[in-house]
Amino acid sequence: MAPQATEPQVSEPPVIEHGGGVWSVKVPIPDNPLGFTLVHLLATDAGPVLIDTGWDDPTSWSALTAGLGTCGVAVEDVHGVVITHHHPDHHGLSAKVREVSGAWIAMHEADASVVRRTRSQPPERWYGYMAAKLTAAGAPAEHVAPLLRARDEGRPRRLPGLDPALPDRGITPGELLDLPGRRLRAIWTPGHTPGHVCLHLEEEHPAGLRGFGRLFSGDHLLPGITPHIGLYEDPDDDTVTDPSPSSRLRSTRGDPIGHYLDSLKRVGRLDPAEVLPAHQHAFTGAPARVRELIAHHEERLTGLLTLLTEPLTPWRLAERMAWNRPWDEIPHGSRSIAVSEAEAHVRRLVKLGRAEAVAGSDPVTYVAV
Ligand SMILES: [Zn+2]
Ligand SMILES: [Zn+2]
Repeated sequence: MAPQATEPQVSEPPVIEHGGGVWSVKVPIPDNPLGFTLVHLLATDAGPVLIDTGWDDPTSWSALTAGLGTCGVAVEDVHGVVITHHHPDHHGLSAKVREVSGAWIAMHEADASVVRRTRSQPPERWYGYMAAKLTAAGAPAEHVAPLLRARDEGRPRRLPGLDPALPDRGITPGELLDLPGRRLRAIWTPGHTPGHVCLHLEEEHPAGLRGFGRLFSGDHLLPGITPHIGLYEDPDDDTVTDPSPSSRLRSTRGDPIGHYLDSLKRVGRLDPAEVLPAHQHAFTGAPARVRELIAHHEERLTGLLTLLTEPLTPWRLAERMAWNRPWDEIPHGSRSIAVSEAEAHVRRLVKLGRAEAVAGSDPVTYVAV
């Protein structure tokens, strides 16, 4: 999911015809300030194909099927589903679409492995991992306690997306998808998730707009908000919860902020005539939006260096960072997400050689160098 919208939602009809055999359907995300996911419909010679499916909820399902109906498509006739990333506001309804239509589901391997893990691991393992990870990041006991309780009580995870659909096929970066009559190329854009992809429709813009084709950008590139970039979650990676600085630096889990900035440059270079994102609204001027986002992250990293003139754990760093509201008013779940984002930024600074872990600190603190 992307973070909360910071600009008012534009009031648009639930279905928009974008021309050239492309439509978007607004599928609501219940009780979420983001409002809705834009599910895209692409006509192909083999039948209609969806890009993302929306949140798994009866209201969302009704909106999806009604929206497809407006486009003259019965959900039973869907030929395939291409998923930009595994988050439940994108992949939630995939199982249901496949069940009624027999459509295949395609996803990048890095996100497919997240789906496999989510399905195979018991919820208590997830709670235990989150508790250990937050403790290692310097979270106070009262923040970690509810997670430990959930782990020990064996409480079923109430999070949506508990049972996400296993994809039937992979998405190979740089290759055209097998869609008769269309040229849709997968662009791997890790950062928001490890297997996030954008889909580049390499066809002339139907209104003749300048630029190269159209880009279905998922959560990677949005007109008015920046996606959440935190450390990739992986309960199998013990280097995340091992408190020793050497272990945390040895982690193979990479550098999501670095991945994200590289991925942004990649889609900026495509110079698409129009971007069709999964939230908010379609827009033009992708290279300018990419420059804006890169500048935003550079500024944020520089700001963090100022905070790290004193050694701080990721938790204490998160407390001091600027969020969309004061730290005291940020609810429990969002604080965990904020700490993950702080850690991702620290990881970036360490990789750049601009910060380092303080030897012997436990939990590990970081300081600017
Ligand atoms: Zn997302
Ligand atoms: Zn999203």
